[in-house]
Amino acid sequence: MRLFGTNGIRGVIGKEFKPDFLVKIGMAIGTYLPQGSNVVLGADTRISGDMVKNAVISGLLATGVNVVDIGIAPTPAIQLYTRNHGDFGVAITASHNPPEFNGVKAIAGDGTELPRKAEEEIEKIFFSREFRIVNWKDVGRHIRAEGANREYIERIISLVDRESIRNAGFKVAIDCANGASCFTSPYILEELGVKVVSLNCQPDGTFPGHESEPKPENLQEIISFVKDGDFDLGIVHDGDADRVIFIDEQGNFITGDKSLAIVANYILKEGDLLVTPVSSSMALEDIARERGAKVIYTKVGAPIVARKMIETRARFGGEENGGMIFPEMQYCRDGAMGMAKMLEIMAKTGKKMSELVAELPVYYQKKVSVSCPNEKKERVLEALKNKYSGENVITIDGVKIMGDGWWVLIRPSGTEPIYRIYAEARSEDKLAEILERYEKELQEVVERV
Ligand code: MG
Repeated sequence: MRLFGTNGIRGVIGKEFKPDFLVKIGMAIGTYLPQGSNVVLGADTRISGDMVKNAVISGLLATGVNVVDIGIAPTPAIQLYTRNHGDFGVAITASHNPPEFNGVKAIAGDGTELPRKAEEEIEKIFFSREFRIVNWKDVGRHIRAEGANREYIERIISLVDRESIRNAGFKVAIDCANGASCFTSPYILEELGVKVVSLNCQPDGTFPGHESEPKPENLQEIISFVKDGDFDLGIVHDGDADRVIFIDEQGNFITGDKSLAIVANYILKEGDLLVTPVSSSMALEDIARERGAKVIYTKVGAPIVARKMIETRARFGGEENGGMIFPEMQYCRDGAMGMAKMLEIMAKTGKKMSELVAELPVYYQKKVSVSCPNEKKERVLEALKNKYSGENVITIDGVKIMGDGWWVLIRPSGTEPIYRIYAEARSEDKLAEILERYEKELQEVVERV
């Protein structure tokens, strides 16, 4: 049985997430850790934050580990504080999910997301109910710590070219989605000498501004704001601010893989490695080649990208959803670091955001889905691997077939009874052609197996 999904344990308040369940999660994590460990714990701005957090803390303390409670903080700030001051970390967040959700995310002592193997050990303890309940005098201490957000703000400012950003005289609009970055990103901007106009930057767990997933339909307000106003950039975070999305000075929504490509274009040097999931744009490959750098592909999932980056000592990594990982900061997605780096790039190159986008290779992308019963998924995957074995394929996550200036990735959904086809090509005609071909072939395979 599994407890942890791809991004921690998620649930709806009053349904999966009730106090008894949460106390047991706290006890399972505490039992997994040596007695006396210090667990750094922070939360996003959700209304349920206090309920969830107090239940988890109670469970942790009962097993004889201490809790260092840093209050409301973005997930990357919790990760940085864990690395600097803790033996383990817990983030109470459901990232971009609707307000009725919350989540518990486990963080290793080095600030990275917990490897799956460690999650399995915690799950084993949870389901066996063999918790280490300590004697009264060994119960852990609940310590409230100030300054985690400050430490995070200062660390980011120290890693970018502050003078260049200050001298550029930028004016930006930022939308914190009423989430945890309300306490960090506007201050980082201000301290970098940027003029800031803020939207939805008061913490509010009802998310009155918009849903916290940073996709175009949720961001019409900041988009029209930037379009009509005199801004150099629009900046948006998701609820726990491990991601950042940009709006250019004309009010265009810039997709995450474009910002990833802009950063790659700026920082990659000869011999560098860039790590990204198989679903990322070919533009990254073109840029890396031009710079004498190399792309390493992984399965989809930020923790997997981060682990591969540590292993290969990569220079940069990230995903198409606005998650960027900078090793000089830490090995996890970091929304505010991505924001500060983008300002540095604009300042140092003297280029507007739209100009940086215009320099990128142009590709067209589309995603479609084909229904497939869950029990057939594995057989379909095997059949696809056989069918395309003669072509240029990568099979680390689904089947990715690569051609000249195009690729197709066919991958089973982890949650729904469907297969997804991701495709990218240099022209819209080619995109339509490959999508039609592979959709038809996938349907045939699903029927046949
Ligand atoms: Mg997030």
